[in-house]
Amino acid sequence: AVTGEKPPLEILLCAPRGFCAGVVRAIDVVERALAIYGAPVYVRHEIVHNKYVVETLKRKGAVFVRELDEVPDSGAPVIFSAHGVAKTVPQNADARGLTTIDATCPLVTKVHREAEIHHKRGRHVLLVGHSGHPEVVGTMGQLPKGSITLVEDIDQIDALTPPADQELAWVTQTTLSIDDTKHIVEALKAKFAGIHGPHKDDICYATTNRQEAVKEVAPRVDALIVVGSSNSSNSQRLREVAERAGCPITRLVLRAEEIDWEAFKDVRRLGLTAGASAPEVLVEEIIDAFAAHFDVTVDQVSVTVEDMSFPLPRELRSEAAE
Ligand code: SF4
Repeated sequence: AVTGEKPPLEILLCAPRGFCAGVVRAIDVVERALAIYGAPVYVRHEIVHNKYVVETLKRKGAVFVRELDEVPDSGAPVIFSAHGVAKTVPQNADARGLTTIDATCPLVTKVHREAEIHHKRGRHVLLVGHSGHPEVVGTMGQLPKGSITLVEDIDQIDALTPPADQELAWVTQTTLSIDDTKHIVEALKAKFAGIHGPHKDDICYATTNRQEAVKEVAPRVDALIVVGSSNSSNSQRLREVAERAGCPITRLVLRAEEIDWEAFKDVRRLGLTAGASAPEVLVEEIIDAFAAHFDVTVDQVSVTVEDMSFPLPRELRSEAAE
């Protein structure tokens, strides 16, 4: 009845947004494992960085643990998250005879293999990434201590003193800012002539496409919301991209209840996207919440169409075929 009194709001939905192929696969891994082994199945670390996804899987019988020592010797499998793990993790699991299933995104595994190949060729590896993120812990943990150095930002490069008697190589985290990484890589190449590295960087297709869509939408809107968890690296980067594109109000929110309505009262065009670990149902929840306050119209701005998908780990595929 109050529709006529509501101010108008045009929502520009960024596309692509939300789930990437690695996240879809990781969630499928947990659901398939629950179907095959029954509950509980253990998952080391949040399977993907989204609390809604984690809570949904918990209700189905997944038990999330920080480390393997929290997994009992009961025969129940333990799943490694999409972010990947250090080499010691599967080694310790094998030593204990645990059944393991690896949900590491194949695009993260690709970076692990690159780092390993550089190391085998005698190169010292520089990893561009954010300290403490599980993907960075996992990639650092592919090589022996001292063979890989973390580079967090461009200001650190001047003071870097890698071993003088070794060739150098660089790899990156998959969910970084495209623009920041470009500058860091340029600075690395300028300081260390002949450094080896990937053709462009190791930022994945999903991170790239979501950032490109935000760049397209952010200059056209009064505010932009990224749906995602605060610990999701690619979601944090999407909010930064919007801010740097000059969007005056940018927020990272997981659920509609977190929206600070006062900040949005004069907004007439809103950009909306979701991090690679955020389900579309949460985007819909945000649109519904805005529709309660505004007379909403929704348009989609698409920069590309994605059709990537990754097969399940072999052990789940063969069981599935039985
Ligand atoms: Fe894989 Fe990229 Fe998704 Fe991470 S964001 S799970 S690297 S596809």
